[in-house]
Amino acid sequence: RSSCQESHLLIVGLGLIGGSLAAALRQSGFKGHISACDSNASEIALGIDLGLIDHGGSQLAELLDDVSMVILAVPVLAMESVMATLAGSLHRASKNVVITDVGSTKATIRDCAVRAFGEVPPSVVLGHPIAGSEKSGVAAADPALYINHKVILTPEPNVDAGALARVEALWCATGADVLQMSVERHDQVLARTSHLPHLLAFSLVDTLARQDERLEIFRYAAGGFRDFTRIAGSDPVMWRDIFIANRDAVLSSLDDFEAGLARLRKAVESGDSDALIATFDRASHARHYFD
Ligand code: NAD
Repeated sequence: RSSCQESHLLIVGLGLIGGSLAAALRQSGFKGHISACDSNASEIALGIDLGLIDHGGSQLAELLDDVSMVILAVPVLAMESVMATLAGSLHRASKNVVITDVGSTKATIRDCAVRAFGEVPPSVVLGHPIAGSEKSGVAAADPALYINHKVILTPEPNVDAGALARVEALWCATGADVLQMSVERHDQVLARTSHLPHLLAFSLVDTLARQDERLEIFRYAAGGFRDFTRIAGSDPVMWRDIFIANRDAVLSSLDDFEAGLARLRKAVESGDSDALIATFDRASHARHYFD
């Protein structure tokens, strides 16, 4: 694993993702300073207790002195105000400061950068680690979260090559595999592989829960349904933000899904054995990808 040579990292939003980044860097032998900004003071206190950060606070503008890289790890819709504060206060940071993020959607965050700075500055490299869980908060921070997971960076054409290399080095130090993609492709791909499956889990679990307030029926559920409830147990604020931010790509993947579901419904309705077997065969073969 390569090491991260930053002198001072500032993590804005010390939750599962930001906290796990700090934990992974600590474990990699990172020598620099790690500070954090979080609107929730108890996350900062816990981050210090756990030895993940050196210091922190809740006022971003007061934490920028001498920072070399800022990592935005707040929920997607909170990026706007954080980016605006950064644009207004970055003169307090060292020159060469690089800004990156971990948000699950990319187009709306790029828009935030444009609104805040007038354009996406060459020192901004947006990204998204494809790792996480249904847990949230720094208490769930896991130093191994990113090992062998992909991190997608979505640099703009005007990106500074040095800034890009530094963000790559940050993630390589956590054990992740870094790759690049356009913002548009990122949002379309993630709508299909992550956002749609979460929407289905939320919908399925909510549909059953509404029918039976005491959740008696859950007693008769086996592993498959349990897996759906694990996904549906994800943080509501984080997911609200994702569905608001990535609306168009999610709607398009939902259209495809609804068409597939309608075909399957028809097959069930008419007892179409061939259609049912063909669908289940395709789906069960697709599972081999992960073997
Ligand atoms: P989290 O809830 O664990 O942490 C978010 C933290 O941000 C919280 O501690 C909250 O207090 C803080 N915060 C919110 N608004 C703030 C503000 N304006 N200023 C300072 N702090 C603020 O969430 P998380 O799971 O770590 O997700 C963080 C980001 O990572 C989100 O953008 C999410 O889309 C992305 N992400 C999450 C996962 C996942 O599986 N959880 C995976 C990849 C990317």
